[in-house]
Amino acid sequence: MRLKDKVAIITGAASGIGKATARLFAEHGAKIVVADIDVEGGELSVADIHDKGLHGSFIHADVTIQENTQQMVDHTVNLYGKLDIIVNSAGIAMRLPVDELPEEDWHHCLGVNLTGVFLSCKAAIPAMRKNGGGSIINLSSIYGLVGAEVRAAYVASKGAVTNLTRGMALDYAEDNIRVNCICPGFIETPLVAGVVKNPDEYQKLANRHPLRRLGQPTEIAYGALYLGSDESAFVTGIALPIDGGYTAG
Ligand code: NAP
Repeated sequence: MRLKDKVAIITGAASGIGKATARLFAEHGAKIVVADIDVEGGELSVADIHDKGLHGSFIHADVTIQENTQQMVDHTVNLYGKLDIIVNSAGIAMRLPVDELPEEDWHHCLGVNLTGVFLSCKAAIPAMRKNGGGSIINLSSIYGLVGAEVRAAYVASKGAVTNLTRGMALDYAEDNIRVNCICPGFIETPLVAGVVKNPDEYQKLANRHPLRRLGQPTEIAYGALYLGSDESAFVTGIALPIDGGYTAG
């Protein structure tokens, strides 16, 4: 029970990494608010938590809308009395280079992946302050640490999330709010399913990771579990790669 009595919001928890994190956090004693634009998937995530006799609630929230992120935090505090942890996992992929990328797609990608983190943190920080501190965990990416081809908006958004994390860690240390990010390699979720269409493509992608495979959502959730728990009480401002060695070379 590494998160006993903690209350956590997990955005993007209808699917993939967010969903695995919600399940693992609940198993470790946290009360969970699943926030997502995907109502059906979000309710299934919560049903999965309830089936185990654990605590969770769903709220529809589009992280690009300030009113929605505020409602997400208000819902959490009204229901569970406080907010200890937010995991910002809502995100989208976008594969195009600058000259081929429509400006509106650029804004959409930055809107979800970067402004979504900003607005979720903006709503969460006052509640955490009131609670005497908290832990913010942003989902960046290996592409928040190194560049990549044909993903202009995505690499820009994730590079910004990594450095936003560092800046916030400095701004809120005196409030005992720790801010860290996780930088996953390729993880087997619906987000990468479009890229990996057959075993050859899987192996090609897997071979870019020294461990020669893609990661599993739970392997990222365990990193979030450490950063959310008091075990990491002296850890803030880090960008933690969980990437099968991708960024080691
Ligand atoms: P995923 O399975 O697609 O889950 C993301 C969830 O976020 C989906 O339920 C999605 O809903 C939701 N979402 C999208 N836009 C939203 C919005 N505006 N407001 C609220 N929710 C929204 O993705 P994932 O693979 O778990 O990725 C989670 C995070 O990890 C993302 O930030 C991603 O960039 C990052 N990451 C993933 C990988 C990877 O290989 N999977 C690697 C590095 C970093 P819809 O399905 O309806 O869009």
